[in-house]
Amino acid sequence: MDCLFCKIASGAIPVERIYEDERVLAFPDIHPQAPVHVLVIPKQHLASHAEAAAADTDLLGHLLWAVGEVARTRKLERGYRLVINTGPDGGQTVDHLHLHLLGGRAMHWPPG
Ligand code: AMP
Ligand code: ZN
Repeated sequence: MDCLFCKIASGAIPVERIYEDERVLAFPDIHPQAPVHVLVIPKQHLASHAEAAAADTDLLGHLLWAVGEVARTRKLERGYRLVINTGPDGGQTVDHLHLHLLGGRAMHWPPG
């Protein structure tokens, strides 16, 4: 499959593997939008949050837990933001589900 994040998950495209287990991988965003900007993806291809099925609930829960592990190692005591851009209006540019962990600065609300 011609999917950028599948290639990163498989190791075909090398990245700094910040956290990894059998189901998920965390790596730095190539264009960071905050002092800490990490992406967490399922290793299994899932095109977007909108494609998630009931059978994916364990995986989705695991992703949320894993991003918390990364946040704890990055010492984001003042907080952080999790973002899942979904579809064209959501600003999704890579069609493989990914969770953005943003931290190290105050975030604005409402988002753009
Ligand atoms: P989204 O716009 O939510 O689909 O996010 C896609 C993210 O992937 C963007 O923040 C990009 O900067 C990031 N990105 C694209 N290519 C790479 C890459 N090769 N390694 C790491 N991050 C990437
Ligand atoms: Zn993929």
